[in-house]
Amino acid sequence: MDFFPIFMRIRDRSCLVVGGGVVAARKIDLLRKAGGRVTVVSPELCLELTALQSRGEIEHVERGFREDDIHGRVLVVAATDDQEVNRRVSQCGQQHGIAVNVVDQPDLCSFITPAMVDRSPLQIAISTGGTSPVLARLLRARIESLVPASYGRLATLVEGFRERAKRCIPNTELRRRFWERVLEGPVMELFLSGRERAAGETLDKALDAGVDARDTGGEVFLVGAGPGDPDLLTFRALRLMQRADVVVYDNLVSPAILELVRRDAERIYAGKKRNHHTLPQGDINDLLIRLAQEGKRVLRLKGGDPFIFGRGGEEVDRLMQHGIPFQLVPGITAAAGCASFAGIPLTHRDHAQALVFATGHLQDGTIDLNWDMLAQPHQTVVFYMGLSGLPIICREMAAHGLPASTPAALVEQGTTQNQRVLVGTLETLPDIVKGEEVQPPTLIIVGSVVALQQRLQWFRPDAPPTRGSLFASCTTPETRGATGTAEQAG
Ligand code: SAH
Repeated sequence: MDFFPIFMRIRDRSCLVVGGGVVAARKIDLLRKAGGRVTVVSPELCLELTALQSRGEIEHVERGFREDDIHGRVLVVAATDDQEVNRRVSQCGQQHGIAVNVVDQPDLCSFITPAMVDRSPLQIAISTGGTSPVLARLLRARIESLVPASYGRLATLVEGFRERAKRCIPNTELRRRFWERVLEGPVMELFLSGRERAAGETLDKALDAGVDARDTGGEVFLVGAGPGDPDLLTFRALRLMQRADVVVYDNLVSPAILELVRRDAERIYAGKKRNHHTLPQGDINDLLIRLAQEGKRVLRLKGGDPFIFGRGGEEVDRLMQHGIPFQLVPGITAAAGCASFAGIPLTHRDHAQALVFATGHLQDGTIDLNWDMLAQPHQTVVFYMGLSGLPIICREMAAHGLPASTPAALVEQGTTQNQRVLVGTLETLPDIVKGEEVQPPTLIIVGSVVALQQRLQWFRPDAPPTRGSLFASCTTPETRGATGTAEQAG
């Protein structure tokens, strides 16, 4: 993070703008909206600013910038087309510890202004750190269309009840839940449908009723996070991720996904790497139960799908034994994610009429599987956890009846920007993989569908390959006339 995001109170505080053109006018507009008292230093003013000045809404100092102009200001904006003046304003501001912004010159700025969706008092600020104002603008447009204009009025309504809520529900945690429940439920529905008074009355009643019993106990959200790409999360996963008090995550959860968990949530790594368990499964179960019994909302975040080689069944079993409420959210399992992103249609009807998910996990140097059942024609087999057992898998599949020329693929870090697909046959794949620096997680796909990959591959991650893992284990409706502003590097 290159910039620290803050919202600054400038009401009735003195702000200096150096420059009197239209660019300065845009900034002045914003400063005045936030209640700032604006002084403009410039030999000339554009028409818009002249009008403001004649109405006494800004102060005008009719000359060039002098260093002592900045004294007593909370912030300074330089918006002249003279580089030298801009530079002097920047230096002077920085020397005196006054926040300074130079329009379109990020290197001279100590603060930049974000693109903004303004539903005052609700404000959404977007910044790309000055790298791409256009991207920020595009995002802003999307958010504008997602956040109804009435959200601002909703925030005002909530504000009116805050003090009372504090008195009625002194416990911060319970109060937060109360607000979440209220805002996710009927109050929100009424408000968005335009029945603002009814929404207020419902909120009033809800406060009278206080906190209901459901809010006092903890809960566990057992959530599948998919194979790596955050875009492959489900809506429900994302919603629960935003509501968690604590997250217990495993090594397959990528940092990009963890980023989407509520910022204040405590993070507990329970990752399991091959051969050394950071936390044994029993301890994880106990941890989930303890945290829930403490009244927390516990997010158990797992790679892929919790019920596919994810030990979700054991966790659910224990939660039920202890009477702990839970929600279970399926995720895109690695086989589905990797196959799609590799261009391998697992059950292409010309090739396979059955699909088997198997574990290639080694126990005592061997893999205990029913090879006769796996080595069948017209069938695709996907091996999870099979990297170290790859030579055994290929050997056994051939020994039990599949031709050695059967196509086989290894998908490395599927769906992520680091995805690679190594394709060979049962005979050649182990050597191909040996020659590469393969990083977990990897998935092995065996069957004639793999031959289609050459034609159907479509996903070409174009990020420069970072030869490490992106996963934790491996190193770890409308706008209704509301306004917004664009991010500017200055
Ligand atoms: N519950 C998970 C699987 C957990 S077992 C799911 O449904 O996907 C862990 C194994 O999943 C890894 O050893 C690897 O074989 C596979 N895997 C998970 N994510 C993967 C990815 N992005 N690319 C390749 N394989 C992956």
